[in-house]
Amino acid sequence: MDAPRVQRLAILGSTGSIGVNTLDVVARHPERFQLVALTAHARIDALLAQCKAFKPAFAVVVDAAAARTFEQQVIEAGLNTRVLCGVEALEKVASLPEVDTVMAAIVGVAGLRSSLAAAAAGKKILLANKESLVTAGRLFMDTVRAHRATLLPIDSEHNAVFQSLPDNFSGDLERSGVRRILLTASGGPFRTLPPGEFARVTPDQACAHPNWVMGRKISVDSATMMNKGLEVIEAHWLFGAPAAKIDVVVHPESIVHSLVEYVDGSMIAQLGNPDMRTPIAHALAFPRRIENGVNFLDLAATGALHFEPPDHARFPCLALAYAALREGNGAATVLNAANEVAVARFLDHDLAYADIPRLIEGVLGGVHAPPAVSLGEVLNLDHDARVRAQQWRKPRAGTNTASMRSH
Ligand code: NAD
Ligand code: MG
Repeated sequence: MDAPRVQRLAILGSTGSIGVNTLDVVARHPERFQLVALTAHARIDALLAQCKAFKPAFAVVVDAAAARTFEQQVIEAGLNTRVLCGVEALEKVASLPEVDTVMAAIVGVAGLRSSLAAAAAGKKILLANKESLVTAGRLFMDTVRAHRATLLPIDSEHNAVFQSLPDNFSGDLERSGVRRILLTASGGPFRTLPPGEFARVTPDQACAHPNWVMGRKISVDSATMMNKGLEVIEAHWLFGAPAAKIDVVVHPESIVHSLVEYVDGSMIAQLGNPDMRTPIAHALAFPRRIENGVNFLDLAATGALHFEPPDHARFPCLALAYAALREGNGAATVLNAANEVAVARFLDHDLAYADIPRLIEGVLGGVHAPPAVSLGEVLNLDHDARVRAQQWRKPRAGTNTASMRSH
């Protein structure tokens, strides 16, 4: 094959878990990748080290005060990096003409505008920010299509599904003979925790995932299995699959990253050690394959792989997400916003772990979710749901128990 053209990258959320893993892969292939832009919310120490190592033309610090300090540090370090600040700067670097590929790795709805900007600029988008698709799936996919952007999933399950679909997949599952998509879930840190102990779960316990090291928000989502619920909605938009064609199976070893079942009984899966550098390298180099430092999987040493159905009583968030997907309209926008607030409140010790699904259910029941198609409609609905989620208080015993679930 010919030598590949140098790919010019913007990494949105470069200081996070996905951002750091992306830079690890990029650093192994300096001849293939050129860093144009890096972005962070406020962690300027980490961003400065990245700028020294990768010398991007632009660095965005969203927080204005942190950006001023950062600019000074960039000057003192003698770097040629232009410092930008504010949320608009994220959109700017995502759509720069000198950028080919955008890694969208900001966490939460905070990543929506910039991933949409990358889509509207027709970029190759490596999408880690699943919340963009959950909250604004129709708008996002329409924008990708209208501007002929290329969308590659970074979420390990969706990357596995992508790898397990035919090369010429047109977006029509039936035409490709697909019966269903099967997303694997590790079950997180509380898969076997006695239900009586849910009441005392702390943020650090919820963030201690058995197989993956990730940012705190997605770690809590994995503990509640809302992460899998968000991923069901993500799969719906990415692969054009109705809820009835997306199933979840718990697989505690996180070796099989997801599967596609075909009408002839074949199941095609992607396997590997749990390391996000695999989907990141896959998407960065697609359709080629590149080395990424991942340990190869030793199947004989792995021994047994286990699979079990999800326990819906233990993980009520999964059913809430399926219900939101089935309801359509803006229900997923509300679900996502309520979840973001619930997780933030839990991490701030302002909400008990067991109240996360109660809050989400309460907010979903209390907000009328009209179809949210335009960006303005999505952001309005997101805002309303956040206000309600901030105000949500656990009903006192004896009141409104119908909407409460017991673990
Ligand atoms: P993280 O918390 O480690 O990093 C988040 C990044 O986003 C940081 O660079 C931070 O500076 C930036 N950020 C946070 N708030 C921001 C804001 N308001 N404005 C601008 N930037 C902001 O998160 P992560 O674990 O790397 O996850 C990033 C995304 O990738 C999430 O959507 C997550 O669901 C998805 N994802 C992560 C993993 C994983 O293994 N970590 C796997 C699959 C999908
Ligand atoms: Mg995932």
